[in-house]
Amino acid sequence: MSDRLVSVAVPIPALGLLTYKVPAALPIPAIGARVVVPVGPRTLTGVMMGEAAAADTAYTIKALKSVVDESAFVPADVIKLTEWVSEYYLAGPGATLAAALPPHGLSSRVDRFKTVRIVTVTAAALDEFLPRMTPKQRAALDRLRGTPDGIASPQLTRQGVPAATIAKLKSLGLVSIREERVDRDPFEHAVSAIPPAPPREATAEQKKALHTLLPLAVDRAFHVALVQGVTGSGKTELYLRLAEAVRRAGRGVLVMVPEIALTPQVAALFRGRFGAGVAIQHSGLSDGERHDQWHRIRRGAVGVVIGTRSAVLAPPKDPGLIVVDEEHDTSYKQDETPRYHGRDVAIMRAKFANALVLLGSATPTIETYTNALEGKYTLVSMARRVLDRSLASVEVVNMRDELAQAGDEVVLSRPLLKAMAVRLERKEQSLILLNRRGFATSIICRQCSAVLDCPNCSISLTVHSASAQRALARQAPSAFRGRCHYCNFTKLVPNACEKCAAPYLERIGFGTERVEAEVRKAFPEARVARVDRDTVRRKGALVEILGRVASREIDVLIGTQMIAKGHDFPDVTLVGVISADVGLGLADFRSAERTFQLLTQVAGRAGRGERSGEAMIQSLLPNHYSIKLACAQDYRAFYDKEIEFRRAMRYPPQVAMVNIVVRGRTFTEAMEGAHDLADAARGAKGVAMLGPAPAPLTKLRGEHRAQFFLKGTSRKAMREALQLAVSRQPKLAKRISIDVDPLSML
Ligand code: ADP
Ligand code: ZN
Repeated sequence: MSDRLVSVAVPIPALGLLTYKVPAALPIPAIGARVVVPVGPRTLTGVMMGEAAAADTAYTIKALKSVVDESAFVPADVIKLTEWVSEYYLAGPGATLAAALPPHGLSSRVDRFKTVRIVTVTAAALDEFLPRMTPKQRAALDRLRGTPDGIASPQLTRQGVPAATIAKLKSLGLVSIREERVDRDPFEHAVSAIPPAPPREATAEQKKALHTLLPLAVDRAFHVALVQGVTGSGKTELYLRLAEAVRRAGRGVLVMVPEIALTPQVAALFRGRFGAGVAIQHSGLSDGERHDQWHRIRRGAVGVVIGTRSAVLAPPKDPGLIVVDEEHDTSYKQDETPRYHGRDVAIMRAKFANALVLLGSATPTIETYTNALEGKYTLVSMARRVLDRSLASVEVVNMRDELAQAGDEVVLSRPLLKAMAVRLERKEQSLILLNRRGFATSIICRQCSAVLDCPNCSISLTVHSASAQRALARQAPSAFRGRCHYCNFTKLVPNACEKCAAPYLERIGFGTERVEAEVRKAFPEARVARVDRDTVRRKGALVEILGRVASREIDVLIGTQMIAKGHDFPDVTLVGVISADVGLGLADFRSAERTFQLLTQVAGRAGRGERSGEAMIQSLLPNHYSIKLACAQDYRAFYDKEIEFRRAMRYPPQVAMVNIVVRGRTFTEAMEGAHDLADAARGAKGVAMLGPAPAPLTKLRGEHRAQFFLKGTSRKAMREALQLAVSRQPKLAKRISIDVDPLSML
């Protein structure tokens, strides 16, 4: 203590904690307070992480410049969580902290709040002998006299009172103006359209689940529970009732959903029960909204926070319940530093907070279900849909037969077309899923087999068209653009091969744009919309399209996996899946699990209202177990089969994995770097190494990539081996990406 040394995190990804002296004139800052520190030639705002032991370092320890906050700005439990994330995922504490804060959160200019000017009449204005005024001034005064608390100036403007009139009245001393803080409210646009659901009686299965879960929710101890409930079993109602119990106990609630577009729907339900004390946190909000919502949560003005992955780092007071809805969804994993998994961080957070974390899914990950079976998590099952609604009946269309009979250009099979026609006639809705975007997958030269590739990445360009209808009408290749789905490089598809000049370019494979074109061709009168990353680039676009589906303005919705997530559309009675096997060709041990989850989830979108639903799954591999068992909607059978494979092959959850990618300007540089690092990491006890080898995407955004994996049962041993290796190879530091518990092998 005599040295008064402290550890500070600064928002620079590559930097670890930095040590500073606290000058005698300054108090030791509170943990979580912002402090201003010198870093090299710069002055930055960082966060006090704790007192530091006297370090024997060759560097001179610099002094803090100032302390911004008297007490914690970032609450202590969030500090603890960011420390855990940094350590577990081998990410810098600065980068992790930045992920926990609102935009520009560390800026010591605290006042980024939006204010509004409130105009009130003064005592002088009540005087009967007012100076001579214009009719406009008199009208403005009359209006203000009726509202002693004042009227916001934008509202006055809308009521036809010009700003100049107010300014004049102020100069006469008849009105005064004060600034008031307002929170920018993302609900304004998002939620108003959704009517709150009335409270209702819990179903028998919900009651049974609550009987198990309610005691855990109010226990003030750490618990993890998994609700494995089929699609439409009413999991949301459980979340609401548990949240009510936890709020009554005075504790906070955090609800995580996998997709920004799901937040309005869930937020509306929670606002229906909890009123205004509900905040939203996700990256789709404007900087201002995020800033205000963060501060509302921080000052305890809200008890319920709803958001996507990053909401797990939000600052609600004393969280007692953390819900991770659709826990299997891969969007919970961040694909840049810090590469954390929102579900796993939620579990740690609940542990630190003595809270219940509730994971919900119809198709839990193999990892989570294993934990539940091993008794680490409390398992609650809901096997039936609410109100005795039946699960969609599922039929597989064997596309081998279909292609043999109807020609190899078939996108929509005859049974699917027929089922869609029936829905259009009955004025019901259809969802059509193809988990691949674009018009065609690639362009190939029929003469020399050259493929139109991205110049920056080792991948072919995906073919897109501005208008699907036009594309189908015009057969010339130049009606299309090629685009790289990794770096966004784009160019017009040439008329002739760039290698051999032959004019025989052919489009291979198809994506959602092609499906849209085929649907429009088959049903010109249908109202069609498409949802994939290309159509929802604009902020709010996805929410808007889903809103149109909910209000029955759309007959057929086509899309990628985005349409399979948690949405509740009661009038959808048909789900069609094109190429159910798209994901199965991938060299990823989770491809069967992904396929099973996607098919079960999307089939679960059908028949959620009073009319029963039907799903049609087109596949070239109808006998693959992931497809067969998804059709049977038999989660347990799938789990049993899959866990056997994972055990035999020593894949997670049997072992843990870490992926290390080393980048280089040339392929050789990347491979040599990977070998140097791998050699330095080799030899740790109980840690196996796979590779180094070229990464599946050998070239990405102009950089070459090589990778290796560590496999083992002790993550700690793997982390330590890597930390040691990185410290032995400091020159590689900037070229390495480490992914602990990677979700993608690609
Ligand atoms: P899940 O998330 O399990 O797929 P939801 O929570 O979306 O299912 O519920 C499915 C449907 O059942 C929703 O339309 C919901 O409003 C309705 N629902 C849920 N619980 C009840 C209940 N107790 N009584 C009546 N309807 C319910
Ligand atoms: Zn590219």
